[in-house]
Amino acid sequence: MKEKGIQMKDYVISIDMGGTKILAALINSKDGIHTRIKKATKTKNGNTNFVKALWGITAEVMLEAGVSEKNVKAICLGIPGSVNPQTGRIGIAPNLNIKNLNIKEQLQQFTSIPVLIENDVNLAALGIKHFGLGKDVEDMLVVFVGTGIGGGLIFRGNMHRGASFTAGEIGHMIIQPNGPLCGCGQKGCFEALASRTAIVRDITKEVKLGKRSLLAKLLKEKVPIKSKAISNALKKNDTVTVKVVTNAAVVIGKTLANINNLLNLQMIVLGGGVMEAAADFMTPIIKKSFKENSLKDAGKAVKIYATKLGDEAALYGGIALAEEFLGIKV
Ligand SMILES: [Zn+2]
Repeated sequence: MKEKGIQMKDYVISIDMGGTKILAALINSKDGIHTRIKKATKTKNGNTNFVKALWGITAEVMLEAGVSEKNVKAICLGIPGSVNPQTGRIGIAPNLNIKNLNIKEQLQQFTSIPVLIENDVNLAALGIKHFGLGKDVEDMLVVFVGTGIGGGLIFRGNMHRGASFTAGEIGHMIIQPNGPLCGCGQKGCFEALASRTAIVRDITKEVKLGKRSLLAKLLKEKVPIKSKAISNALKKNDTVTVKVVTNAAVVIGKTLANINNLLNLQMIVLGGGVMEAAADFMTPIIKKSFKENSLKDAGKAVKIYATKLGDEAALYGGIALAEEFLGIKV
């Protein structure tokens, strides 16, 4: 066990549950991230094993950091799906293969540390609001482009969750009637047009039509195309990838313009795997498309940035969630 002399301090443990990785950290506002652990997510295991895995990684963080339960004031979970932060219930998290699970009650069987849950993008939005680009901003939208597309809305300085906690689900705004099928069952959703899943689908289509691409070899070998591979192909000016990603960025700009015409925001922050890997290429295209499709005054007022907090945004969000729901400052 490491000696770090931190026994007197208070922390939260934030856990960001991704479809492919689980990231856990011991964190507080003064020192930032103290200890972090990253693991692959095992998605096929169902509810019971999910609870055990979560408690396992929590215990591992405490052991690694050399802190006891009394130093941890909350366990804050970011879940990629629909959640009720008041009851602690996960409605559905398709990428985790989880349905109807009160994760708070379940985890509370292992520990008396309070358990809080939030949608993963909302949690990241809280992190960006309190510890990142959004510090001085009241009205902000955070958009994460990855396997899907998620959004988190900050209004008047607070998280806006809506009547049934689904506010910010911009990935399922229907942008192209009769467009490609989305995972939700509708056609032409925003994320069915501009997520990494959509980008890879469109690149695959071009390659099947006989177009040459640097990604063709990976596709042929059935290697999953990650954001990094897309970014590398963009850097090498791969014609197919440039075309498909440009189309996605144009759609993102247009959709954000629609949202901003409704909300008249101060700031839009872009994040997620695709943006992290390809922000340099995509941000100027997104901004141009945004401008072209915005009402003039609404478009001029808003600043668009790519976040540099990366996957730490949600970890920091845990601190803000604990303050909001438990009234504690760590
Ligand atoms: Zn959809």
